[in-house]
Amino acid sequence: MKVTKSEFIISAVSPSQYPEDALPEIALAGRSNVGKSSLINRMINRKNLARTSSTPGKTQQLNYYRINDALYFVDFPGYGYAKVSKTQRALFGQMMEKYLLEREELKLVMQMIDMRHPPTKDDIMMYEWLKHHGLPVCVVTTKMDKIPKTRRAKHAKVIRDAIGLHPEDSFVSFSSEEGLGKDELWAVISRYSGF
Ligand code: GDP
Repeated sequence: MKVTKSEFIISAVSPSQYPEDALPEIALAGRSNVGKSSLINRMINRKNLARTSSTPGKTQQLNYYRINDALYFVDFPGYGYAKVSKTQRALFGQMMEKYLLEREELKLVMQMIDMRHPPTKDDIMMYEWLKHHGLPVCVVTTKMDKIPKTRRAKHAKVIRDAIGLHPEDSFVSFSSEEGLGKDELWAVISRYSGF
């Protein structure tokens, strides 16, 4: 997949701001700091389009990126960030929930999990919720470069087993730092988006 054009479109704070051009959408969910912005930048060969930030919990909207005028990446607020107030969490939870349950353009959720550690309770709850609602998921484990090569398969297995990966779901190990998993992830995205 050759990305020739990528644009930040909008930080949507309400559904009325979602794009209306009916292009397929790929959502990215994961804990704050899991590496979502870095993954977006790597997938589209841009250094800084998705803001990489060391302050977790900064993203409080659905951030839309249009790729090759053919599909959108929709970046979700990072979950599991204690400093976001309860009211805010409930609110963003509602907006996310509505989007995930009702957005027809949504083709795939990429759920990102830090490969260095077993999944957190939030990671497991999120995956279970997505599967309960029948959503197609690709689990993407991040920061693979931080794990010695000989231990990567073991870490991947721990994560698969802990979340109870459904057989129909894809699983890709990724490193934004080294570009590992990029082609494989584009292949999965193509399969779901028809692009
Ligand atoms: P976000 O909050 O999920 O958007 O996470 P960021 O993309 O901002 O990444 C959080 C931190 O993890 C940053 O310091 C990144 O440089 C680092 N990071 C992200 N992806 C990788 C990766 O694949 N490898 C390594 N070594 N560090 C990463």
